[in-house]
Amino acid sequence: MGVQDFHRASEPSTVAKGPIVAEPLMARAARAAAVAAAHAEAVDRDARFPAEAIAAAKAEGLLGVMVPASLGGEGLGLRQVMEVCYTLGRACASTAMIYAMHQVKVACVVRHGVGSAWHEDFLRRLVREQLLLASSTTEGQGGGNVRSSEAPIERSGDRISLVRAASVISYGEAADAVVTTARRAPDASASDQVLTVFLRADYSLERNLEWDTLGMRGTCSAGFTLRAEGEAAQILPVAYETIHAHSMVPAAHILWSSTWAGVAASAVERARRYLRKAAAAGALPPSAPYFTRANGELRALRALIAAAVDRYEAVMDQPDALSAMDFQSQISLLKVDTSELAVSAVMSAMRCCGLSGYRNDSDASIGRRLRDILSAPIMINNDRILANVGASALLTEVAASIKD
Ligand SMILES: Cc1cc2nc3c(=O)[nH]c(=O)nc-3n(C[C@H](O)[C@H](O)[C@H](O)COP(=O)(O)OP(=O)(O)OC[C@H]3O[C@@H](n4cnc5c(N)ncnc54)[C@H](O)[C@@H]3O)c2cc1C
Repeated sequence: MGVQDFHRASEPSTVAKGPIVAEPLMARAARAAAVAAAHAEAVDRDARFPAEAIAAAKAEGLLGVMVPASLGGEGLGLRQVMEVCYTLGRACASTAMIYAMHQVKVACVVRHGVGSAWHEDFLRRLVREQLLLASSTTEGQGGGNVRSSEAPIERSGDRISLVRAASVISYGEAADAVVTTARRAPDASASDQVLTVFLRADYSLERNLEWDTLGMRGTCSAGFTLRAEGEAAQILPVAYETIHAHSMVPAAHILWSSTWAGVAASAVERARRYLRKAAAAGALPPSAPYFTRANGELRALRALIAAAVDRYEAVMDQPDALSAMDFQSQISLLKVDTSELAVSAVMSAMRCCGLSGYRNDSDASIGRRLRDILSAPIMINNDRILANVGASALLTEVAASIKD
């Protein structure tokens, strides 16, 4: 199924019966994951959008689960969505990352757009039509510096326009809307940013950079010139600085980490099967201790994410605590720690499986998981995060006790 077919298959008429929402979330996620798993190899081989898996997620009503019930959604939180990312990540890393990136944008619009008539209408439509949202933050020479924008929003009365050198937009061509950062106005500084929702009919994408990568090939994260027009009401009514600290970074780091944990779990599961088969044949290979290591790394990874979501939920209604250096450092470093642990867990699983793990043609092959997970440390480069957090860490006292 190509992107064109996907758009046809996802048109509102085909989902008019409405998504299945009566069943428990994880049963619906498991069905979408089964579709994702069936197509994961082809998606990776052909570097193509996982159209079947995303169509299944739409049919299961998974795209609007975080929208409040008053707007037609299920009012679920990151805690539930991270489990969906983990489940999808075990099946197909690209599908899970697409779902995670979509939900990061939904989290921002739900938290900062409710109360704005345009965004409330948009959220209702998102649930009804299961709209898939893409994200544009990377721009021109700025790379992963999300808190800096080059292209400004231009205004003419109530109308706005934006022309952006969007060097990476995952699944840009398959998305139904794009949520993009931009400079507030031509005379604003690079860090004075807004976040704006543009619907598919509002923009054109001129592709100027392909996506032929080691892993995460199905995210189809090509580069484009984004040309968009819309109404001023499409700009979220809160400064991006606040959205970034209160919603974007926590949601991105928790949901990306959950996706990577799913990929790691899939590698660990392969190593487990490999060892059980070897044990049944009479002898464990000398590489068996690597399984213990992989399993421990996966456990540590899950514990980090669980602690982070607890911490976020504890402060999410306290703007001062959310903006505090302590919370911001911890949530920033979550991404650094989980991305490195996930790479390590997948690597340990491969060492456990030895040549069978290294081969592409064995049922213990770890290759795709390893290639996919290697994107984790560079997806907002860990070096950049460490450099940013480093300065504030210098101002913080070294902990005087274990627990506090
Ligand atoms: C799978 C995947 C999907 C993506 N999808 C999207 C998307 O949908 N939309 C989008 O907008 N972007 C997307 N991105 C891009 C992402 O948001 C980052 O822009 C990108 O990963 C930055 O990569 P980079 O390594 O070139 O880092 P950059 O931040 O551009 O940095 C380049 C180099 O400079 C170093 N560096 C930079 N700043 C510092 C610093 N302060 N201190 C020390 N070293 C530094 C880095 O280590 C790196 O080696 C995606 C990336 C991946 C991997």
